[in-house]
Formats: sequence, structure tokens, C-alpha cells
Amino acid sequence: MNCYVCNKLGKDTPAVAICILCGMGLCPEHLVREELPVFQDVSAGMGTVRHKMPETLPRILCSECYHALHQAK
Ligand SMILES: [Zn+2]
Ligand SMILES: [Zn+2]
Repeated sequence: MNCYVCNKLGKDTPAVAICILCGMGLCPEHLVREELPVFQDVSAGMGTVRHKMPETLPRILCSECYHALHQAK
């Protein structure tokens, strides 16, 4: 598969990743990598305490999906 964005610009660049939302192929230049925090609830006394785990969860988006997701902030 080739990068969808590059293809629209008339270039053939091999895709190294795929956007998890729209599924378009992306080259390193056009992908957006986000790191999502991972939480674990641990019971402590009467309730639970939310711990942030040291490792994050990577996800790959294209810039269009990235901006669509973050416009509501
Ligand atoms: Zn590209
Ligand atoms: Zn996308």
C-alpha cells in the first residue's frame, strides 16, 4: 500500500502505518503518533485509587482524523 496523502500529491511513497480511524495508508511524514495513558484501578481502603501505568499505548492517526478528534477541546 502507498501513502494516501502522498498519492493525492502525485507521489508514490510506501505506507509504513495505517490510520486506525479511517484506514488510510500513511508514510512516516504523514502519520500522527499519539501516546495514550493507561490507567489501572487499585482498591485502597474504602474505594479505588487510579494509577497511571509507566507504559503508554501508541496509536496511529492521519492528520485529518487527529484534527477531527482534537477540535472539540
Ligand atoms: Zn505521505
Ligand atoms: Zn484517518
